[in-house]
Formats: sequence, C-alpha cells, structure tokens
Amino acid sequence: MGGYVPLADPDRNTEPIRNETMSNPEDDRWSKVKTRLRTEVGEDIYSSWFARMDLEAVETESVRLSVPTRFLKSWIQSHYAERVLACWQAEDAKVIRIELIVRSAVLRSAVKPKVPELETNGFGSRYLNGNGDGRPMSVGDPGVHEALGGSPLDPRLTFDTFVIGRSNTLAHAAAKQVAAAKRGDAVMFNPLYIHAGVGLGKTHLLQAITWAGNALGERKVLYLTAEKFMYGFVSALRTQTAIAFKEALRGIGVLVIDDMQFLQGKSTQAEFCHTLNALIDAGRQVVIASDRPPSDLESLDDRVRSRLAGGLVVEIGTLGEELRFEILKARAMAARVHHPGFDVPLPVLSYIAKAVTHNGRDLEGALNRLLAHNKLTGHAVTLEMAEREVRDLIRPQEPKRVKIEDIQRVVARQYNVSRSDLLSSRRTANVVRPRQVAMYLAKTLTLRSLPEIGRRFGGRDHTTVLHAVRKIEGLVGNDMTLAEEIEILKRQLQE
Ligand code: ADP
Ligand code: MG
Repeated sequence: MGGYVPLADPDRNTEPIRNETMSNPEDDRWSKVKTRLRTEVGEDIYSSWFARMDLEAVETESVRLSVPTRFLKSWIQSHYAERVLACWQAEDAKVIRIELIVRSAVLRSAVKPKVPELETNGFGSRYLNGNGDGRPMSVGDPGVHEALGGSPLDPRLTFDTFVIGRSNTLAHAAAKQVAAAKRGDAVMFNPLYIHAGVGLGKTHLLQAITWAGNALGERKVLYLTAEKFMYGFVSALRTQTAIAFKEALRGIGVLVIDDMQFLQGKSTQAEFCHTLNALIDAGRQVVIASDRPPSDLESLDDRVRSRLAGGLVVEIGTLGEELRFEILKARAMAARVHHPGFDVPLPVLSYIAKAVTHNGRDLEGALNRLLAHNKLTGHAVTLEMAEREVRDLIRPQEPKRVKIEDIQRVVARQYNVSRSDLLSSRRTANVVRPRQVAMYLAKTLTLRSLPEIGRRFGGRDHTTVLHAVRKIEGLVGNDMTLAEEIEILKRQLQE
C-alpha cells in the first residue's frame, strides 16, 4: 500500500478497459443522462468531473454509478449529487436514489486508455497550458504557479543549518526521510504532521524539506503557508481557474503546508480536505506544520482531523540549553562569512544560551544585536556588552503549552479514574468531580473555547463546560483541600 500512484498522469492512464457491451436500453438511457448532464454543467466541468463516471447497475429505484477515485466521489457527492439525480429523473422518474461508488482497485489494474487521453485524464486536462503544444498545464507554468501562490523560501533554512538535539531528533529524521524519498518509493507516513510552539524550527524543517526535495529533482515539492493556500485557492475560484488549480496539483509530488492553524473558514477547509484526500489517495506526500496537535485544531471537520492524525504526528519540544548553544554557535559561524570581524567568544554564546530561554527567533535576535553593535561601534563583543544588549530578551520562562489530553491524563491519574471515565457519560460522584476539575483546568490553562472543550470531553455541550467551570470556581474559595489539589495539578501540568 501507499506506493506512488499517479493522480491522473496523462502518460499512464490507470483506467481499466471496460467491455463495450452491445447497445441496450440501460446504456441508451445512461447516454442520454450523460448528454443532459453535459449540457447542464458545460463541457469543461463535465470533462473534469464526469468523464470517468460509469454506470454500474440500475435497479428500480436506484442507480449505481462509479468513479475511479475517492476524491472524485466526494467531490461529485458534495457538489453535484442533486444535479446527477435530477438528470436521471428527467429520463426515468422512478429513480429516487443515486449511489456513487469507487471502482475497485482490481478493475484498475488493467492499463489501457479507452478514449483519447485528453478526454480521460480526469482533473480538467482540457485546460491546456496555453503554449499551443497541447500539453496540460503543469506547476511549472507561471500562470498556475501564481494561482497556487508557492510561498517564498528563505535560502538559510536548510538541513545543513538545522541543528539536531533531543527535542527535534524525530521530527528531523522524518523530514529527512520525506525529502529523500524517490518517486515510486512507498510513502511511509502520510501526512507528516509536525507541531510545536513558536520559534522551535517548524518552518525551518519544512523549508529544508522543500529545498532538499527540489534539489533532488525526483518530485516537485511545493511549499505553501496556509494563508497562501487559502489565497491561492480562493482567488483561483474567483477567476474560475479552479480546474486549473486541480490540474496543477497533479504536478505536485510533495505538498508542504505551514501554519495550518491559520486555515480558516468552512469552504476553505472543504477545499483543503479535498486536496488532502486527492493527494494522499494518489500516494503523494503531504507535510503539515502547526502550532498545535490535530486534536487541538478548532473548528476543523472531524474527517480532516482524523485524516491529519492518521499519518505521523511529531512534536518538536522546547530547545534545551545545549541545543540553544549549538544553534548560536552555528549562527555565529555563519555570520562570519559575511562579517569576518564578528568574533563572538564562547562564554558569550553560553551566556546567551542560558539567558535567552524562549525560542529560535529570540536567539537570532540576540545575535543580530551583538552584530549590529559590533558593526556600528567597532567594539569587540564581550560578556558585559552581551549582558547589556540582550537584557530585554531575558524574560521569565514562557508558560508551557498545556494540552487538553495532558490535563485529562494527569487528572485521571490524580483521582484514580480512567481517562475514558472522564469522557464517558457516567454521572457517579467519583467521576463527576474529576471531570469538572479537568474541564476547569482546560478552560484556565489553555486558550480553547467552551464548545471546543466540550467536544474534547466526549462531545458535551458548552453549557455543561461552563457549569463545571463555575462550579469549581465556586468551590475553591471555600474548599482548601480542593484548592490545593488544583494547585498541585496546575504545577504538574506546567512543569
Ligand atoms: P517556527 O516555524 O516553529 O515558529 P522557525 O522555523 O521559524 O520556527 O524557527 C525560528 C528560528 O529559529 C529560525 O531562525 C530557525 O532557523 C531557528 N531554529 C529553530 N530551530 C532550529 C534548529 N534546530 N537549528 C537551527 N536553527 C533553528
Ligand atoms: Mg513558522
């Protein structure tokens, strides 16, 4: 499973040879329905979505149609189900139901085009590239690239400049693996989902994958911020080149999406879901970074969420002091290429590594200040100067990102119940109180909304969560034991 299957490769038609049966009344009716549909939706849409739809069976009240991919199925279902039914009903009023299935993989093993390739290769292959050479558009065509809005890359963010430490070993290894995969290699984890707090190297890793993957030249790697994805898609829809957009997606071997948490809006998410499914089903690699795990992405369709969680989810932990030191050292060395006089003594580096605890961005900021000071005044970099320059970057330790899952785990352990008890509908006192405590902690220690917390606690209503929060708030004022328990739980979670 998971091998490289072309999404709709014009050179390799994956459609089965289907027996051309003698004309019979059902086929006649099917032809009429198709003609009707073609007239209604127009040639372009028809050939994009319906060209490969086949009739499988007709019963008295229902008709079974098939398409070759899950993507086509879900797209047709969500956009054209009623249209298709209406077209059937116009020919045969008895039909009340259309069942759409994905043609079996067995059928698909036969390889031979049955109609000229431009008709059969699915995603709007009739949108040619405009060069007059009759070839479909590809990502290489500037028009489409613009529609896709490939985001700019920072040449410094490569694997070479990425320093490996305990907190990012796994994420780094997975990223390397993805970047080095060749066309035809089995896809090991899809999607690869990397999450971490701000400044811990998500973008760095994602761009490193993009640079390395494209340098290898095996598969086209496209890096998009979620914003670009939204903008690209929305504007593509506005200029009615959605089909061209789909077409362009065909040319992508690896789609990299950064800052997934910014992907907002129902229709954007629907498009994202389709894109994700289409690419994954076709064995293309998808890589995603976000500031939170899939389970904490609010307002996301459950199907998308489970799809995201279905690959490999890795967290990058906070940068330890040792790793901060190594990053600083590498940075200082790199800076010397352009600024030969910029000499940062090791004690200064270890001072900054110790003092500036936040994230990669602050480390960079600290070094930049030393550099600026050094350049502008000509003074050598000393410990005293460093202490003065980075003073305001030294902030108390940033509170740890607390996850609802952790809260549930820690609370369950504390009260000796199971996590599933907390999520269950059981109403016995030994479960109700811990559940309320956990909801209260979720509200006070995370930024999650009441409905989101309700969802994470076995699909409860937000009013239930609000009740729990108020209840505990009311109790801690009088109940010293409870107040203390909660303090201990908070400390455990924020450690
Ligand atoms: P994020 O996308 O997670 O917010 P970035 O990837 O933008 O974080 O990283 C912030 C800064 O820290 C960048 O300058 C990046 O190069 C640097 N950085 C983070 N982790 C590492 C690392 N392991 N090695 C080298 N630089 C790193
Ligand atoms: Mg980032």
